[in-house]
Amino acid sequence: MLHIHALEKRYATGDRALKGISLDLAPGEIVGLIGPSGAGKSSLIRCINRLVTPSAGQVAFLGRDMNPLSGRQLRAARREIGMIFQEYALVERLTVMENLLSGRLGYTAFWASWFRRFDAADISRAYELLARVGLAGMENKRADALSGGQRQRVGIARALMQQPRLLLIDEPTASLDPKTSRQIMRLLLELCREHQLAAIINIHDVVLATEFLPRIIGLRSGQIVYDGPAAGVDESA
Ligand code: ADP
Ligand code: ADP
Repeated sequence: MLHIHALEKRYATGDRALKGISLDLAPGEIVGLIGPSGAGKSSLIRCINRLVTPSAGQVAFLGRDMNPLSGRQLRAARREIGMIFQEYALVERLTVMENLLSGRLGYTAFWASWFRRFDAADISRAYELLARVGLAGMENKRADALSGGQRQRVGIARALMQQPRLLLIDEPTASLDPKTSRQIMRLLLELCREHQLAAIINIHDVVLATEFLPRIIGLRSGQIVYDGPAAGVDESA
C-alpha cells in the first residue's frame, strides 16, 4: 500500500536528511522507525504526506505516485493518511469534541460548518471513537484541561475521524511517563488491528519499539541500516 523507492531529501541548508530510502508497507502492517536524533525519521515521515517535498525518488501510496499531486488531489490523498504528533497538536481552547470534528473537516471547513450544523454521522463517529480511546463523557472538556495521556488519546481519536488507511505517528510517547507510554502504544496497536490500518511509528525508545512493534526499520544518517523483526534488533542500536 506504500511503496518508497530511492527517496532523497536535501534541505536548503545543504543537510542531506535522506540518502536513498527504499521500503514497502503492506496493508495493515505496522512498522517502528528507530534511530538517533538527526537520523532522518521526521524527514521520512514528512516526505510521505508531503509536509516536506522530497528532492528525488518515489513515494507511491495506494498505487498512486504522490510526487506530481498538488492542490485538491494532494488534500484528497492526505485525508487517507492520519497524523499523530508528539505534542498532540490539539487546539487548546477548543473542547475535545471540537478538536475531533475539526480533524474530520480540516480547520477552515470546521469554522465554516460552525454556522451550519455538523453532520450527524461525524458526531456519532466522534462519540464512538471517544469511548474507544477511553474518554467517554469528556467531550466538553477543553483540550488545555487534559493530562498528557488524555491529550494523546484525543490526538489518536482525531486522526481516526478521517478514516485513514495509513497512520504516520511521530514520537507518540516522547512527552509521556513510561506507564502511560505503554498504555498509548497498546491502544495504538489495537486500533490499527481493528481498523486494518498500516502505520509508521517514529519512536526514539528502542526498548518500547521492540516490545510492541513486529517490524523495525533502523535509520542512521539518512540511510536504512536495519529492516526486520524486532527480535533481531541490537539493543545498542
Ligand atoms: P530525526 O527525526 O531522526 O531526528 P530529522 O529528519 O529531524 O531527524 O533530521 C535529519 C537531518 O535533517 C538533521 O541533520 C536535521 O538537522 C536536518 N533537518 C531536518 N529538518 C530540517 C529543515 N527543515 N531544514 C534543514 N535541515 C533540516
Ligand atoms: P523534532 O522533534 O521533530 O526532531 P526539531 O525540534 O528537531 O523537531 O525541529 C523542529 C523543526 O525545525 C522541524 O520542523 C524541523 O524540520 C526543523 N529543523 C530541524 N532541524 C533543522 C535544521 N538543521 N535547520 C532548519 N530546520 C530544522
